[in-house]
Amino acid sequence: MAVIIDGKKISADIKDELKDKVEQLKLQGIEITLAVIQVGNDPASSVYVGNKKKACEYIGINSLSYELPDTTTQEELLSLVRDLNANEKVNGILVQLPLPKHMNEDFIVNTIDPKKDVDGFHPQNVGALSIGHKGFVSCTPAGVIQLLKRSKIDLSGKECVIVGRSNIVGKPMAFLMLRENATVTICHSRTKDLKEVTKRADILIVAIGKPKFITKDYVKEGAVVVDVGIHRDAYNKICGDVDFDDVFNNVSAITPVPGGVGPMTIAMLMNNCVESIDNQ
Ligand code: NDP
Repeated sequence: MAVIIDGKKISADIKDELKDKVEQLKLQGIEITLAVIQVGNDPASSVYVGNKKKACEYIGINSLSYELPDTTTQEELLSLVRDLNANEKVNGILVQLPLPKHMNEDFIVNTIDPKKDVDGFHPQNVGALSIGHKGFVSCTPAGVIQLLKRSKIDLSGKECVIVGRSNIVGKPMAFLMLRENATVTICHSRTKDLKEVTKRADILIVAIGKPKFITKDYVKEGAVVVDVGIHRDAYNKICGDVDFDDVFNNVSAITPVPGGVGPMTIAMLMNNCVESIDNQ
């Protein structure tokens, strides 16, 4: 019988641990402040931003909210980011993506002070991860590691196959699994015979952005499957990149969607905010 890895419970545990740490810091007179910038009013972004603010409130982190109209120029946004970089009271800066089309996201992200880049997207933090140095790690892959470790899944020496090579999920995921001494393979849209590769995986991590793409034909008997994807199916029900019902009886453990990786992303963002204190 497969274990369902409970991301809601694990993320709640992490948030409670962080709440305690923040209380301790407050006793020493240390406050943590996260600045959240949203440009435009994309409904999905507004939901994410709202959830991040709620998590801050729960843990005891101050949040500063900047809701800018989508007519904001790139120079105006850069100027705000530079002001926040210089503001000693601000520990973390988060620019909610995607940005309107007239802005260059890379340029904006690269302007954030790497010591305040709690999303872990700045090239300096990405580089630090790749060479095993300290720095902020992208929240979703960091959350996957926590899910696996806190579920007592041994990673050392295991065959790990990651499907997807994006800068925010697939690539940092690969570096984190290497750090855990897994043997790592990354697949992408040009991979030949994807099934043959994924069937070698003891741990299969899927981040491709295609609903229910991974069926039992892609999965080795007894594998651990982590589903990063999030979509709505034809019945408007939330589902992942993995066909959960189809693979369930073949795996030893699996993350559900919703309630798997999703809640971990915000928990790890909060963790990065708390860690920002050590960086500054
Ligand atoms: P991207 O679209 O940036 O990347 C998708 C990756 O999947 C690419 O590397 C692409 O390959 C690869 N891919 C696409 N089709 C195939 C295929 N048929 N076979 C093999 N590989 C394929 O997506 P993200 O990494 O940003 O996100 C992936 C999923 O995770 C999405 O559903 C997203 O919504 C979800 N997500 C969830 C988060 C959470 O908090 N739970 C956070 C971030 C993302 P190539 O590079 O060759 O194009």
